[in-house]
Amino acid sequence: MKDISKKDQRNNIPLVSRKTASQKTIINIRGLKIGGPEFIVMAGPCTVESKEQLENVAQNIKKCGAQILRGGAYKPLTFPYRNSRTYELREKGLKIINAVKKNENIPVVTEVLDVRNVYKVARVADILQIGARNMQNFPLLEEVAKTKKPILLKRHFGASLRDWLGAAEYILYHGNPNVILCERGIVAPHTHHPHSRFIVDLQVVPAAKERTHLPIIVDPSHSTFRRKYVAAIARAACAVGADGIIIDVHPTPSKAAVDPLQALNYKQFGKLVDDLKKIKEIVN
Ligand code: PEP
Ligand code: MN
Repeated sequence: MKDISKKDQRNNIPLVSRKTASQKTIINIRGLKIGGPEFIVMAGPCTVESKEQLENVAQNIKKCGAQILRGGAYKPLTFPYRNSRTYELREKGLKIINAVKKNENIPVVTEVLDVRNVYKVARVADILQIGARNMQNFPLLEEVAKTKKPILLKRHFGASLRDWLGAAEYILYHGNPNVILCERGIVAPHTHHPHSRFIVDLQVVPAAKERTHLPIIVDPSHSTFRRKYVAAIARAACAVGADGIIIDVHPTPSKAAVDPLQALNYKQFGKLVDDLKKIKEIVN
């Protein structure tokens, strides 16, 4: 795997490369700053299930101290089958997200999977999520860049930091400087086992900060895939200097329509946010 050279920084990733030690991109979402001194917690269900569910999650995560609501209306599910147990609400989900963000006055991050839906999703989202599987979907990157909305760019599970920064460069190149990187676990020959579906590359957090001025967060839910490991990895992400986390939280995790093994309940989440505050103080 090729490392990032000086020539790359000059020719391939000039816009995302850090020019000085203090250069930092701070993304401002209605006064909330991502990449500044505050540790940002984005939380919510993997998939939006109903207005009641999302409203309840929004109220509870706010109480616990989260600043941004997550929830997918369009989901990159591994298999094509949807049923009453596993589903995505698509347009109906977008309407729910829009209603809840207004009622609860909380910014939302939601995924856009398809170049044809970019403007529909961008009308609702405060942050557009590009999922791991679409990290190098270059036409999609170009299209989301044009919306000028902040973009949460998840790292593909097979991508090097060089590939990832190259994908971010596309978004900046197309006129949108508001990119948040998100580490969500990488694969190796021994992953996809119960104890480690992905390996969380925590080292990439300081490594990315060496190279780029963009903020970087960690997803402890999709990377660990198992509830019992989520809090430990979230705490580690804070300790290693990440700017925040994006985490699955559900009123009854085992009943979640997508990814029921990884979501935290409100009590587990509240305890974690308290721990993160203490860790952040030490880090600062
Ligand atoms: C998600 O955040 O809902 C998701 C599908 O994540 P990833 O793209 O990292 O798998
Ligand atoms: Mn998920």
